Amino acid sequence: MNLDFTENRPAVGTVVMLDDQSFRLTGFEPYVRRDGSPSELMIWEAACAECGTPIKVKSPLKNNGLTRRCVEHSKAGTRVTGGRRVTVRVIPA
Ligand SMILES: [Zn+2]
Repeated sequence: MNLDFTENRPAVGTVVMLDDQSFRLTGFEPYVRRDGSPSELMIWEAACAECGTPIKVKSPLKNNGLTRRCVEHSKAGTRVTGGRRVTVRVIPA
């Protein structure tokens, strides 16, 4: 999975669907890359794919997918999708 918002910064309230799991953009946070250049992290609200616990997910504008489980269930270490392709839909705010 490849999510790239670097050319098209999403508005707060944008929803990204990964299969049937939704992530709502709630804001941005300043971030300094390893090379020292300034960037931003996107802050998303979602529900754990296992138990539905609300989770807050941070990701760079360009990323390989979003965290889909709460801390407890992320320890399982397996992917939610079991390796098949994830359907990505972006719903603008
Ligand atoms: Zn969970």
